[in-house]
Amino acid sequence: LAVVYWMRMADLRIEDNRALARASSMAQKENIPLIAMYAISPQDYEAHDRSARRIDFMLRNLVVLKEKFNALHIPFYVFNHRPRKTLPQAVVALLESWRVTNIFANLEYEVDELRRDIRVWELGKQKGIRSVFLHDRVIVDPGVCKTKQDKPYTANCQVYSPWLKTWTESLNKNLVWLEAAPAPHPNDISVRGSTTFGDLFRSDIPDFVNGFECCDAITMRQFWPAGTEHARQILDRFFTTKAKSTQLGNVSPLAEGAESSVGGSRIIKYGDDRDKADIDSTSRISPYLASGVISAREIVRKTMDFLKIKKVEASRGNGVGIWVQELAWRDFYNHVLTSFPRVSMGRPFQEKFADVKWETNEIHLQAWKVGKTGVPIVDAAMRQLNTMGWMHNRCRMITAMYLTKDLMLDWRLGEKYFMENLIDGDLASNNGGWQWSASTGTDPQPYFRIFNPYAQSEKADPTGNYIRHYVPELAGLKGKGLRFSMNSSTTLSYYGQPDGPIGSSSNSGSLNDFKFKSS
Ligand code: FAD
Repeated sequence: LAVVYWMRMADLRIEDNRALARASSMAQKENIPLIAMYAISPQDYEAHDRSARRIDFMLRNLVVLKEKFNALHIPFYVFNHRPRKTLPQAVVALLESWRVTNIFANLEYEVDELRRDIRVWELGKQKGIRSVFLHDRVIVDPGVCKTKQDKPYTANCQVYSPWLKTWTESLNKNLVWLEAAPAPHPNDISVRGSTTFGDLFRSDIPDFVNGFECCDAITMRQFWPAGTEHARQILDRFFTTKAKSTQLGNVSPLAEGAESSVGGSRIIKYGDDRDKADIDSTSRISPYLASGVISAREIVRKTMDFLKIKKVEASRGNGVGIWVQELAWRDFYNHVLTSFPRVSMGRPFQEKFADVKWETNEIHLQAWKVGKTGVPIVDAAMRQLNTMGWMHNRCRMITAMYLTKDLMLDWRLGEKYFMENLIDGDLASNNGGWQWSASTGTDPQPYFRIFNPYAQSEKADPTGNYIRHYVPELAGLKGKGLRFSMNSSTTLSYYGQPDGPIGSSSNSGSLNDFKFKSS
């Protein structure tokens, strides 16, 4: 007999992991072995546009986890199963062969994953296996934040602000939700799993990585090292050190060593600096949160320890409170996903926009993807994505608005390209960000919220260092010359476009073509 913890793509950690804690406690109580299991499902990754970067990150984390499970004497069984439709059968067959009584897993809120889990639950039940799925991904569980009419917040209710109020109040009334789930301890394991099952970590994982064209794998590995310890170091850096303008390139956020926090650490200055892409002012914890390498609860606990307070601070009064509000956006979009599953099926949150006729223009789409639109801030941001697998939040909004409201291309094309390239690609946040930017989502402002990329460039890149770093063709320029540059070398002139930014009505390059409402 045995108990199984089924680890998923978004909970790659041992500490503060609810399903693992429950599985471990049951194994101990029943005096039977605990097995940790991971199913690699290539067809799912293809269907969900998972980037090679994120998959590589996942595999690197699995290697770290294998060592940790070994130290705990918990066998870690990782297997590949290609046809996604038969994954539930494969999982249950494996459980049967191990004579598993109970399986525990953290919920994944995407529709395909929920369907898969329901199938596992059904098939398992037929074989006498009990499946337990737990909320773990977010700080406040989906379904908690409701309107007075007991409905989920929708676009007609000014969505985020009242939702955040409910989120903060509920959390402060139930601080127990922030408690860390106990990690298994080697002495807790009454039956040494490793002696029963041996080392089952399969060697086919490297082959699987090689199957991807992960040409920038080395850069990614340097930039985003695997493991919870690295996530904690990245957080410490954010809490205790000052932002610098030297971290825009392909250098690990950890490579710079500790600088003094005199004048305010990154988190203290977050309110002032978070929209600036020309300094490394935000936490850059998103790849670790998206893959669950660190728990969102642990991060909130850290903010409370930092401020030495007993309640969750999510006000706009200081950098920490503003940062917690950003963390809450992640919960918010997961709540949207669970209440409105249509958003994970390519449909707009606001259904009235389902029939929008978007432009089709492959040349414009390609120019946007490679960062050759001729609009310097858009090009810099897209090149940041293409080299780092990550993009600054303000630039994500600028590039998304540019694609949907200047080039008038379908937000789903941008959403897909982001998923294919981000190391922090996450359906709920990515879809939420794209739909918000395209005005088909939760932004109560209607379609006329349009960012002027040139005005935005002054806010996001006041020094111009960001554009100069990522668009080296413009490195010799300064001030307005840089920001408004229409240097033909930055545009896709080889696609037969006249000089000047694409997306303007005439492609004449005249600034008059960009009469946007500044937002
Ligand atoms: P910080 O500013 O330090 O914020 C801390 C954490 O809060 C982030 O790591 C993230 O987990 C969360 N967070 C912050 N802002 C948001 C937000 N607007 N929505 C949801 N969560 C937020 N984030 C992803 O994690 N994955 C995505 O695939 C993703 N796609 C996006 C697409 C678009 C078009 C937009 C506009 C935003 C997207 N975001 C996404 C949200 C946000 O841009 C990133 O979370 C943030 O830039 C990550 O950098 P950071 O860790 O330094 O953030």
